Amino acid sequence: MTRSSGGEAAERFQRIVKQPRPGMPTPNLPDRAAECARFRWEDAAALLDGLPDGAGLNIAHEAVDRHLRHGRGDRCAIRWIGKAGQRIELSYAELARQTARFAQVLAALGLAPGERVFVLMGRLPELYTAVLGALKARCAVSPLFSAFGPEPIATRCEMGDARVLVTTPELYRRKVRGLRERLGGLRHVILTGAALPADLAADPGLHAWDDLMARASPDYVIGPTDPETVSLIHFTSGTTGRPKGAIHVHQAVLAHAVTGRWALDLHDGDVYWCTADPGWVTGTSYGLIAPLVAGVTSVVVEAEFDAQAWYDVLERERVNVWYTAPTAIRMMMKLGTDALRGRDLSALRFMASVGEPLNPEGVVWGLEAFGLPFHDNWWQTETGGIMIANTAAMDIQPGSMGQPLPGITAAIVERRPDGHVAVLDEAGRDGELALKAPWPSMMRGYLHEEARYRKCFVDGWYLTGDLARCDAEGYFWFVGRADDVIKSAGHLIGPFEVESALMEHPAVAEAGVIGIPDPTVGEVVKAFVALKPGFEAGEALNRELLGHARKRLGAAVAPKAIDFRSSLPRTRSGKIMRRLLKARELGLPEGDLSTLENDEQP
Ligand code: AMP
Repeated sequence: MTRSSGGEAAERFQRIVKQPRPGMPTPNLPDRAAECARFRWEDAAALLDGLPDGAGLNIAHEAVDRHLRHGRGDRCAIRWIGKAGQRIELSYAELARQTARFAQVLAALGLAPGERVFVLMGRLPELYTAVLGALKARCAVSPLFSAFGPEPIATRCEMGDARVLVTTPELYRRKVRGLRERLGGLRHVILTGAALPADLAADPGLHAWDDLMARASPDYVIGPTDPETVSLIHFTSGTTGRPKGAIHVHQAVLAHAVTGRWALDLHDGDVYWCTADPGWVTGTSYGLIAPLVAGVTSVVVEAEFDAQAWYDVLERERVNVWYTAPTAIRMMMKLGTDALRGRDLSALRFMASVGEPLNPEGVVWGLEAFGLPFHDNWWQTETGGIMIANTAAMDIQPGSMGQPLPGITAAIVERRPDGHVAVLDEAGRDGELALKAPWPSMMRGYLHEEARYRKCFVDGWYLTGDLARCDAEGYFWFVGRADDVIKSAGHLIGPFEVESALMEHPAVAEAGVIGIPDPTVGEVVKAFVALKPGFEAGEALNRELLGHARKRLGAAVAPKAIDFRSSLPRTRSGKIMRRLLKARELGLPEGDLSTLENDEQP
């Protein structure tokens, strides 16, 4: 559903969304256009304190220590809910002490500012302490997905020159132990728990977390931190070659502060839940930094997705603001709204989604299920923070990523053969999404890959590698990755558009669309579809889906073939791996599969 095509349904949607909700605070960004005209990035500094005596800007100080001076020391910073239902509440004051201890631990281990600390574990409290403590120590941190196997762990630790790794005994045994010889630069491995397990005690450079922390002082004065000091390294997958290590700096906290307020509408005293894992940039920027900078209570759930358990969290913790992802939304949609009946979700005020295209049906389903729409927003590892969003006070355009936040200039551009880019001013044209550089949370480099980094910038624009379009009202619509797009009979076809159309069919749970080389038309569109329970794959449904898509999209855009799968390969951050579908279909090498989440082959 788009505004132009949605007609009555779209109007009804806007009416419901705009219904006044008594008792709810006013959105932080009541008038986006006015703020865009007024805002300068220097203004963001007013939301932050900076280090005492003008000693610079440090993310951990903004996220933790300064709250003590503002009387928020007793407030719960992190409410951790373990897999077995355990609960730990860390107040801002306690978090300040724990992170100070960890900064002291690093100093005692001889780590100098600038050296690299890697963290490999599930969403455990130690993860949050380690990341913030390392930032206090002015070390660069890289949180890795605990689901990574040894090879991706080794590649990343090598690329990032890891000095210290914080992990659990179990992950160490299964994934890291066999890498120790290869990772010669890894001097220390800190294992969570009270004491080193007997079977590991002879390994070199191993320490027990509790032991180190108990011996460290809970006081630590953060050293002078130039805002350009490296803070985080997030690895992201490229289309080819090794993963890219995007380098971020402390200055990024300016963007975390404003985007947390504007795109997630965080208010003082909120209970907030970001479902992302810090192994993915969202789980760090918005599961850790932005909420703490805003001084809210951040709920951290260790367990993986389970609809009932998630609804329990929303209800029991009285979550006000929820940031999640389309895959989860679609999984909940599959189950229907029955599981929500009778629940008290009256505390919920704002729901946002990121990471992959959110189909319009998902946005609207939010209304049906929770009485609130999902607000889609867009950004990527390289941008460090949310760039484009449907904010609380805006008209939501279901299916659109929203509009650029104040301080961000976005455009649709076309790469020209002479190496320059042309801005496509005309509304509705497909092209590459570009952002005017710089902004505070923009990556400052790719590890060891200066040329690859430089190639991202042309004529002052950062080229995102995403294809999008901008409508006459300034809303951005995702089309696909620049490298996934399909060219068929001269038509540029966005796989997302085709997938969305298929998703509208009641039988379809998931859809992935790729281009198959064709000698006549360049490429033809092929779809892979996973069905909802109760539907049967077969000739009849195949024909029905092809007909449905042709009707919705026109013959030039509709898929020419559909294959059924029990599920589609997805990355851990939830994106369907079209590249892998394509490689398998064409019998090509499957490439780097380190981010592959589910992989049930047909
Ligand atoms: P990552 O760096 O892993 O966060 O992935 C960033 C990429 O995810 C973007 O370049 C997009 O291709 C995709 N993405 C993120 N947010 C959205 C969104 N709201 N709609 C569509 N695609 C998105």
